[in-house]
Amino acid sequence: MKKADILIIGTGVAGLFCALNLPVEKNILIITKDICEHSDSFLAQGGICVLKDDSDYDSYFEDTMRAGHYENRKESVDIMIKSSPEIIRDLVNFGVSFEKNEDGFLYTREGAHSTPRILFHKDVTGKEITSKLLSAAKQRNNITICEHNAMVDLIVENNRCFGAVARDENGVLYNIFAPYVIIATGGVGGLYVHSTNYRHLTGDALGVCMEHNIRLENIDYVQIHPTTLYASTRGRRFLISESVRGEGAILLNKDGERFTDELQPRDVVTAAIREQMKKDGTPHVWLSLRNIEEEEIKKHFPNIYKHCLEQGYDVTRENIPVVPAQHYFMGGVWVDSNSKTSCENLYAVGEASCNGVHGKNRLASNSLLESLVFAKRAAKHISEIKTKTDFEFNDEIENKYEQLLKTRTDYFLLRDDYVAVMRNEIEKAKEKHNNE
Ligand SMILES: Cc1cc2nc3c(=O)[nH]c(=O)nc-3n(C[C@H](O)[C@H](O)[C@H](O)COP(=O)(O)OP(=O)(O)OC[C@H]3O[C@@H](n4cnc5c(N)ncnc54)[C@H](O)[C@@H]3O)c2cc1C
Repeated sequence: MKKADILIIGTGVAGLFCALNLPVEKNILIITKDICEHSDSFLAQGGICVLKDDSDYDSYFEDTMRAGHYENRKESVDIMIKSSPEIIRDLVNFGVSFEKNEDGFLYTREGAHSTPRILFHKDVTGKEITSKLLSAAKQRNNITICEHNAMVDLIVENNRCFGAVARDENGVLYNIFAPYVIIATGGVGGLYVHSTNYRHLTGDALGVCMEHNIRLENIDYVQIHPTTLYASTRGRRFLISESVRGEGAILLNKDGERFTDELQPRDVVTAAIREQMKKDGTPHVWLSLRNIEEEEIKKHFPNIYKHCLEQGYDVTRENIPVVPAQHYFMGGVWVDSNSKTSCENLYAVGEASCNGVHGKNRLASNSLLESLVFAKRAAKHISEIKTKTDFEFNDEIENKYEQLLKTRTDYFLLRDDYVAVMRNEIEKAKEKHNNE
């Protein structure tokens, strides 16, 4: 058994930033299913959006809404955009470095943005941000991180969360009791055969919340990224960032002809590619970087350049085969604008949560920002609660769950058919949406 003032599940940007914004006198335990470096946050390539100046507000708001098919929660979009300069200042204070020139920050552009407003660090922005946050968290005496410890259930009584059941690196189950629990378990890519996500991200929070009747929202809103490097083998797909198209790369059919506007929202470009593949009878289309200077490719996209070279493609000279793959999850555990779920004392942040920012389809480079903004809000909300009056923590519950642990083996997440059940739930949600 473990105890903490606050339990955070997941060490991506959302979990780490939340921990770093909680009071230093709180004893914070973070558990993570794999090693800390294996989160999608480390994989983010393109960058992070920011409101450059007030004159861009309307345009940024409209781009986010348009990409989301106007199904976004407007309040959340407003909060995210207005909080963005503060979040970037926070990141810079944690040592994060973004590309600059003599006039200040450099901004890149991605699909469906009407102007360049994305800060970046080469093509490894996620690694730059997450590694700095991780190192700051490791330096805090009040934060303990346990790798290879996975949440398999939440401890919920009368719609109030008291902690979680976890499995340690030896497969042993144990209870963690904490007055506040924050879900930061990321997306659902591991449920899909072709995905850019880490395989261990299997929507665990969704499964657990579903079991406890904790509200979920839009679990069928799954984003497919138009351009991942085609491979005939199984495993995680390598992303070719949208900012490559933002900087001028074009999509070509089997005859080397352009067939769509590459800078439309992701779902539109994905549909165009799929249609073209069908017409051509090919398992992929082609991406050409010929409009981008060789020097710029190597400077702005060194990771993509290197990876493609290792796979036998020199992007400075030849086209590369690309295909759509699962990439991001807009739905999730329903939360309010303070990231609080429908269950007392339980919060959800990052890709696991749904605060409605993205609507039906995420605008490129809004997810790191959204994760950070709403993780900070969760931390602030918890910090402002008067623990004593708000919460009764009792031995009775501890004893009950310690006893239960000795007999229970039927945790939903540990079942062999977990992935199939979750896929089925997502399909059911899609069908429901289609019939509305
Ligand atoms: C290839 C790629 C490129 C991307 N590029 C961009 C970009 O340029 N800009 C942008 O804004 N966004 C980008 N994204 C999206 C963005 O990276 C993610 O949405 C964001 O990082 C999610 O952060 P998170 O903290 O919610 O989840 P993650 O970073 O995925 O972290 C989830 C954490 O939860 C842990 N976990 C999962 N289940 C359990 C469990 N049961 N018990 C314990 N721990 C668990 C995992 O081990 C992990 O530590 C990209 C994503 C990918 C995959």
